[in-house]
Amino acid sequence: MVKKMSQITGKKTSAIPSTRPLASLRISFGRCNLLSAIHLDFLFLFFGLVFLTSCAKPMHKDKFVIAGTFLEVMSTDARASQIVYEEFKRLDKIFNFYDKNSEISRLNSTYNTPVKVSPELLEVLRLSQQLNQMTNGAFDVSYGSLYDFWKELIKKGSIKELPSKETIDSIMKNCGMDKIKIDAADSTVTLQKEGLKIDLGAIAEGYMVDKAVIALKKKGISSALINAGGDIYCLGTNRKNPWRVGIKNPSEIEGIIENEDLVDEAITTSGNYEQFFDLGGKRYSHIIDPRTGFPVATHVISASVITKNCTTADGLATAFFVGGISGVNDFLSKYRSTMRIFLVTQEGKQKRVHVFR
Ligand code: AMP
Ligand code: MG
Repeated sequence: MVKKMSQITGKKTSAIPSTRPLASLRISFGRCNLLSAIHLDFLFLFFGLVFLTSCAKPMHKDKFVIAGTFLEVMSTDARASQIVYEEFKRLDKIFNFYDKNSEISRLNSTYNTPVKVSPELLEVLRLSQQLNQMTNGAFDVSYGSLYDFWKELIKKGSIKELPSKETIDSIMKNCGMDKIKIDAADSTVTLQKEGLKIDLGAIAEGYMVDKAVIALKKKGISSALINAGGDIYCLGTNRKNPWRVGIKNPSEIEGIIENEDLVDEAITTSGNYEQFFDLGGKRYSHIIDPRTGFPVATHVISASVITKNCTTADGLATAFFVGGISGVNDFLSKYRSTMRIFLVTQEGKQKRVHVFR
């Protein structure tokens, strides 16, 4: 059920109006060389939006709940939010893992049968395949049954011990990108292992944002901000200025650790603050390392990526949360990139922001 909201409290994003300087913040720039260090003292890291006000045309702001997330649209063009919303509604019918009638659910219910898929599903699957290779398997959409297993455990709560490696291995044997056959010429996908489930939760939202941007451009709209639960795209400028997006400390209503001015760029965050469980002094997130089968429980508490499109930003934020500092360094050593990456780590009470530009 889709409903329009009068107030939004996105999982990673919220609008915040000011930039009080942080007293204690530790930031490291580049390939993890600490060039400058200030202490950071905050509980979680979210993205907050700071919007520059230059008056002139009024800004239209709308908020919805759709595709299992909060959707926020801002534009001086009154048509923008409805166009974005309609595109999300259309794409949710393809990508919604939890709707048994969605295209992805129908594909997931098949085995060893070539299934004709939509151009959108084909595109996201091919991108997912590429990201899987580029991140040494840290990003993997073929482990849906494993992700589901962990999410169910987290939902139940009060986890006293980790499941055995045998239990995890028995789920993992039905997973793997090599068991998904994509025939692009024929537009078919074949799941070659019974029980294999594709979960596009780490990339589909970013893709939906990108598709909504295309829909806006088709209608001649050249300025808007779309925020789908923390997957953000800044189209054009905010009237005459860039859109200003701040990395915010939600425990301090006004605290921001970094401001970024974005024009035609996306920003996305993955972190361990949404769904998690604590065990033996460690925090285990809903993001799983597909190479071990166990949730990420490292000192990384969030990963944020700024780049030209939201699909890539979404996929890579998840991958970098899994891979951590070494994963980011490895990626950057292989792929020349203009993207900006922020990893927040926590050791004891001390938090650090590692900035890669
Ligand atoms: P995100 O919030 O974009 O980081 O996506 C997290 C969601 O992606 C999880 O709730 C899972 O459904 C799924 N997921 C978990 N771990 C991975 C992974 N290593 N690669 C791809 N998808 C994942
Ligand atoms: Mg993601």
